[in-house]
Amino acid sequence: MIIVLKRGESASEVVSLLNEYGLDYKKLVLYDRDIIVAWGSRERETSEKIHSLPSVELVAAVGSKLQLASREWKREDSVARIGPVEIGGDFVVIAGPCAVESREQIEEAVKAVRKGGAQVVRGGAWKPRTSPYSFQGLGLEGLRLLTEAAHSAGLPAITEVMDPRVARDAFTLADGVWVGARTMQATPLLRELGALCSKTGKPVLIKRGFGNTLEEWLLAAEYVMLEGCSNIGIIERGSRCPVSVSRFSLDVAFIPVARMKTHIPVIADPSHPAGSRELVEPLALAATAAGAQALMVEVHPWPEKALSDKAQQLTPSEFYRLMERLKLLLEALGRRMASQPKSL
Ligand code: PEP
Ligand code: MN
Repeated sequence: MIIVLKRGESASEVVSLLNEYGLDYKKLVLYDRDIIVAWGSRERETSEKIHSLPSVELVAAVGSKLQLASREWKREDSVARIGPVEIGGDFVVIAGPCAVESREQIEEAVKAVRKGGAQVVRGGAWKPRTSPYSFQGLGLEGLRLLTEAAHSAGLPAITEVMDPRVARDAFTLADGVWVGARTMQATPLLRELGALCSKTGKPVLIKRGFGNTLEEWLLAAEYVMLEGCSNIGIIERGSRCPVSVSRFSLDVAFIPVARMKTHIPVIADPSHPAGSRELVEPLALAATAAGAQALMVEVHPWPEKALSDKAQQLTPSEFYRLMERLKLLLEALGRRMASQPKSL
């Protein structure tokens, strides 16, 4: 259960009750509220006592699996902040190459995504590759190239972290990180990123694993939030599906259903389910129409020479076209594209 304390009230009464009833608990400050999340076999019984304490504003999500990520205690939409860019209000586009490959490549990619109107740059420095013989990314050097190029263009940059050993460096250099589909349930990683988010205020975005349920995805977010992180977003990127015609199957229903269940902003990645560049635009538009609050799109200055995900990365001109079409769709839906940051 989640206990929201009235502003300025101490947690001591609640804590002594929780101790008396033998519940596990954690005190957190999330979204500028003092809350306590408590769990254990006598939760229901304890919640009735806690309800009547004068220091308590709200007791919610009693006995439910989903706690911090649920709308049961926080009904209004939350915002995720990547530097000055806010996801959860006007529509945001995160764009950039699958992997950082060289200074020239990332500088050209940043130039293109900036020209197209993206607000945030993405780029993989440590790549999760199926084969150990494939290009693994430039590591820390790649992250340096990414942030230098993005920051000189006045845009924030994010990268994937799959290994907790590089998490500190990633949080120092980048403006935020994402968890990839393959490591969505690596709980030590989730906890480490949650702790760094809580310390630095930088965001963690969590991709849904390609075989994971909605509940598993939201519980991954729960791990991150339980470390005190309230700068968080989730990314839908499609499932492995035997009857799909694309690389992965983008089940757009995940987007509105996730938005009903959680206050956390929902982002869609149309590139990885597409697997080929001609499918990226229709999937991007479908995800946006279904309620995604941001997109994460792969763009490469010369996709034919890319060292990973060659077939699905958009050329700059394909990206410009996508952005034009997106603006038309957003307008028809009464929504708006966010403007690019004025300064970092
Ligand atoms: C990526 O974004 O480059 C990536 C590897 O995606 P996913 O984890 O969704 O496969
Ligand atoms: Mn990729």
